[in-house]
Amino acid sequence: MSAKSYRSELVGLFGYPVDENPTVVMIEAGFRELGLNYRYNTMEVRPGDLEIAVKSLKALGYKGANCTIPHKVEVLRYLDHIAPDAEIIGAVNTIYLKNGETYGENTDGKGFIVSLHDGGVEIKGRNVVVLGAGGAARAIAVELAMAQAAHITLVNRDESRGKVLTAILTDRTPVKADFVLWDHTYQIPAGTDILVQATSIGLYPDTGCPNIDYDTIQSDMVVCDVIPNPPQTEFIKKAKARGARTFDGLGMLVNQGRIGFKLWTGKDAPVEVMKEALAKEFVE
Ligand code: NDP
Repeated sequence: MSAKSYRSELVGLFGYPVDENPTVVMIEAGFRELGLNYRYNTMEVRPGDLEIAVKSLKALGYKGANCTIPHKVEVLRYLDHIAPDAEIIGAVNTIYLKNGETYGENTDGKGFIVSLHDGGVEIKGRNVVVLGAGGAARAIAVELAMAQAAHITLVNRDESRGKVLTAILTDRTPVKADFVLWDHTYQIPAGTDILVQATSIGLYPDTGCPNIDYDTIQSDMVVCDVIPNPPQTEFIKKAKARGARTFDGLGMLVNQGRIGFKLWTGKDAPVEVMKEALAKEFVE
C-alpha cells in the first residue's frame, strides 16, 4: 500500500483582471469527473509580475497554466519553447511544463479547428471569410491556413490591423489571403464555404450583430461565431434562419480547454461534462 499524498497537482490561470473568468468551473468539472487530484487556481497577475509568475510555475511544481488578458503576447518572452503556430500567431494562451521547461501553445485557434473537425467539416481547399482581425481572428486565421484552407478573406474595420494580419498569412503560411476594409454592409461572396464571426460583437451584455447582408448567407455555408456568452448570438440565430450549419463559441471555448487539459494531465478531457458546467455560468 502506498503512502497517502496530501499534495495536489497544480494548474491555473494568469490574468488581470481575472476574477470573472469562469475557466476554473470548466476545468475542475473535468478533474472531478475523472477523479484527478488536480487544482486549477485563478490567479491575479499584474503586468509587471508576469515574468516572475512564469518562473514560479517551475519553482512551485505546476503542470502548466492558461494566460489571458493582458498576458497572451508578453508571455512569449518568458517561455523556454513556443509552438510554431503560436509563434506565427504571436500569442500564447496555454503553458505546460515538461522536464522542467516551459512550453507555450495557442489553443484558441486549435479549439476552433477541433470543433469543425468533430463536426465533420473539411477545411482543406475551402474558401473562408473571417470577420475581425483581433487576437481571436488571428489565432483562427493562422490555424485555418495551417489546416490548408485555400483562401481567407479578412474583413476588418481598422485597416492597419486587417492589413497586418493579411501580411502574416501571406508571408508566413501557404494560404492565399486578402483584406476588405469593413466600412459598409459586407456582402458574403458567393463561393464562401466557411464564415467566421471573430469580432467581440454580441458578447454579453452586447446584443449587436455584425454589419453584413444576412441575405447573402447561403444554406450550404458553415457559419461560426467565437462569442461563448451567450452561445446563441443574434448572428448565429440569423445564420440558422438562413439554413446554414452553425458552430458556436461555447464549443470552441470548451475545445481549447480540452487541449490544455490533455497537455496537463495526459488524459482525454470529458468534453460534455465540461461544456455543461461552463454553460451554467453563462447567460442565455
Ligand atoms: P480584440 O480586442 O483583439 O479584437 C476585437 C475585434 O473585434 C477587432 O477585429 C475589432 O475591430 C472587432 N470589433 C469590435 N467591435 C466592432 C464593431 N462594432 N464593428 C466591427 N468590428 C468590431 O478581441 P479578441 O479577438 O481577443 O476577442 C474577440 C472575441 O472573441 C471576444 O468577445 C472573446 O470573448 C472571443 N473569444 C472567444 C474564444 C472562444 O474560445 N470561444 C477565445 C478567444 C476569444 P477593429 O480592429 O476594427 O477594432
